[in-house]
Amino acid sequence: MSTFHSTRSSNEELTSKQAIRKGIADDGGLFVTDSLGETKIDIADLAGKTYQQIALRVLSVLLDDYSEEELKQCIDEAYGSQWSDERITPVKPLGSDFVMELFNGPTCAFKDVALQILPRLMARTNEEDGDGEKIMIVTATSGDTGKAALAGFADAPGTGITVFYPQGRVSRVQELQMTTQKGSNVHVCAVEGNFDDAQSAVKEIFADKDLAERLQREHKVRLSSANSINVGRLVPQVVYYFSAYAQLLEQQVINVGDPVDFVVPTGNFGDVLAGYYAKMLGLPVRQLVVASDKNNVLFDFLTTGTYNRQRPFYETISPSMDILISSNLERMLYYMSERDPRMITYLMNDLNEWGAYEVPPELLREIRKVFATGWADEDQVREMIADCWNNNHYVIDPHTACGYFVMQQMPADPQVPRVLLSTASPYKFPRVVNEALGLDSDGTDFECMDELSRKSGTPIPPMLRDLENAEVRFRDCVEVPGMNQYVEECADKL
Ligand SMILES: *Cc1c(COP(=O)(O)O)cnc(C)c1O
Repeated sequence: MSTFHSTRSSNEELTSKQAIRKGIADDGGLFVTDSLGETKIDIADLAGKTYQQIALRVLSVLLDDYSEEELKQCIDEAYGSQWSDERITPVKPLGSDFVMELFNGPTCAFKDVALQILPRLMARTNEEDGDGEKIMIVTATSGDTGKAALAGFADAPGTGITVFYPQGRVSRVQELQMTTQKGSNVHVCAVEGNFDDAQSAVKEIFADKDLAERLQREHKVRLSSANSINVGRLVPQVVYYFSAYAQLLEQQVINVGDPVDFVVPTGNFGDVLAGYYAKMLGLPVRQLVVASDKNNVLFDFLTTGTYNRQRPFYETISPSMDILISSNLERMLYYMSERDPRMITYLMNDLNEWGAYEVPPELLREIRKVFATGWADEDQVREMIADCWNNNHYVIDPHTACGYFVMQQMPADPQVPRVLLSTASPYKFPRVVNEALGLDSDGTDFECMDELSRKSGTPIPPMLRDLENAEVRFRDCVEVPGMNQYVEECADKL
């Protein structure tokens, strides 16, 4: 059976269920398994398989302490009628390239792919210690994770969820999506600060042993994370890379074994890391293109080998990519460094102490064989939204537009199809999209949606349009130092 340990040490050995329940390792590292890549997924028989069938294959390999029956149940519940496309992550032509839509889930965000299944995986982790311990998810969101996590965990048995978002720094639609969330186990709270402030405070809350002990004793509550550092969130994202390949086979764009490139709008490095896992599992991925917005810390790292978080933080029109610390990069470094936990410990200590680290040139060379990179500023993002519409009659959101820009900058190889991952519905950012397309953007977000729908001839996802008249349930706002107190109050109500 596969065992999981921290990227920073290999002392502890956990099953995937334990790793999912725990979220993050005690030493602050992320859980990884050295079995990754030992068992390959057979790509010869991908064509014709449903998303759910592919998911079962992939998850059986990566989460091998779950029974097939457990995984089947989780998959069927997570990828059912709440998706507006039965292919779940449909691949569509985009000029001479392709786009894979990851936003057809219940909250119109790519994070639904993982967060629809994570609560179900988590619910099946607690048989051994059936002592009624509850799990409370605490998460900081720059926009999309929050709603997708809320939707996944709302009224999920044995769980609660508390979501923090930076006040005034998410779109009106995103804020309403969260503050109108139904469910008896959910809490939503704004924080006076930016996303990194909130994210750092959440990490401190997780590291607070006294708090953990008190929550356990007084409330039988254990904290866990729904951020993409959780194995149970990362692994389901590997599936859609295989699904993309299956769809390209079916569309006779490629033959079995042909290489494919993926272009990935990147923030926390979860999405693109899943592509790297897919490659290790045998998917013929040639290049993974890391596309950043103006917060181009990953671009700098992948071009120079120095990761430096000490830089200005920009709040851009692609808020889910406004990140200075891409947590999941640590996993990539682990695998790329020949699985050297000591090196990872050094690098992460440097990051904590100096705000920067540098990898050896040989390691950078290896990384660059797989990962290409580029970034787009906000003017380029706006331009690309218009370009993509004019050239392909396809509306993209500002996150996807970062990827689109980077893809346009790269020389195309007719032998290698390129798949751009589209991470959000344009209707989540209707004002920015309308501005870019030269459409009326004066009214409310909802008027912008109506205008975009009229002019583009595309339907508004009902869950977004209906927000206008949904009841707001949460108006809490705290300062960063008040977040742990808030978490305790939520645990008390669980
Ligand atoms: C989260 C998110 C991203 C970034 O994904 P990572 O896995 O954090 O790299 C990009 N676009 C959108 C819309 C997102 O919500």
